[in-house]
Amino acid sequence: MTASPEGHLVVVSGPSGVGKSSILAGVLEASHAVFSTSATTREPRHHEVDGREYHFLDRDDFEALIEEGDVLEWAEYGGNLYGTLRREVEPLIAAGSDVILDIENEGAKQIRSSYPSAVLVFIRPPDLDVLHRRLTERGDTSSRDIERRLSVAKAQVDEAPAIYDHIVLNDDLDTAIGRVIDILSSLSDDGR
Ligand code: 5GP
Repeated sequence: MTASPEGHLVVVSGPSGVGKSSILAGVLEASHAVFSTSATTREPRHHEVDGREYHFLDRDDFEALIEEGDVLEWAEYGGNLYGTLRREVEPLIAAGSDVILDIENEGAKQIRSSYPSAVLVFIRPPDLDVLHRRLTERGDTSSRDIERRLSVAKAQVDEAPAIYDHIVLNDDLDTAIGRVIDILSSLSDDGR
């Protein structure tokens, strides 16, 4: 009897404000891929629901999960911890589902070394002015935080070609969604 093929691990990264959430919403609607809900110590934004956008944890609980080996990768970003929970990923991959992680560069590098077969996608903004405008219009981030996110964004964009398998420009939402869906489809065609 042949074991059923495992699913793929797909990292979708990109700077804050690049439009990742909209792209991922479109991709998840149009494919069978599932989203891994990360854990974070950041405060929820007004529209966010615990267990949907993130599992919101306090620092002690987050650190306990790391200690117990329950976190696949984690990083500190903007003074908060963010991490992928094993239980959000491993059973689904084993059952044949493709799992999408929305994580930043440090996490993407950890995934690259622990899951060499993972596919890493970076969403790139047309330029940093667009990011500045989107973060300001979103209205849920303080101006100090916006400045910090912009300087991280610049570093992320500069570093991306060395880390990622695919770089997708988001100057048009539907085109960007289509490119990510094409990347997912090409994985199912790879015969694994
Ligand atoms: P935000 O606070 O805007 O939701 O996310 C800030 C950054 O943390 C984003 O770049 C996002 O991709 C990243 N992030 C979210 N979840 C994880 C995670 O589980 N691990 C890592 N390494 N980064 C994450």
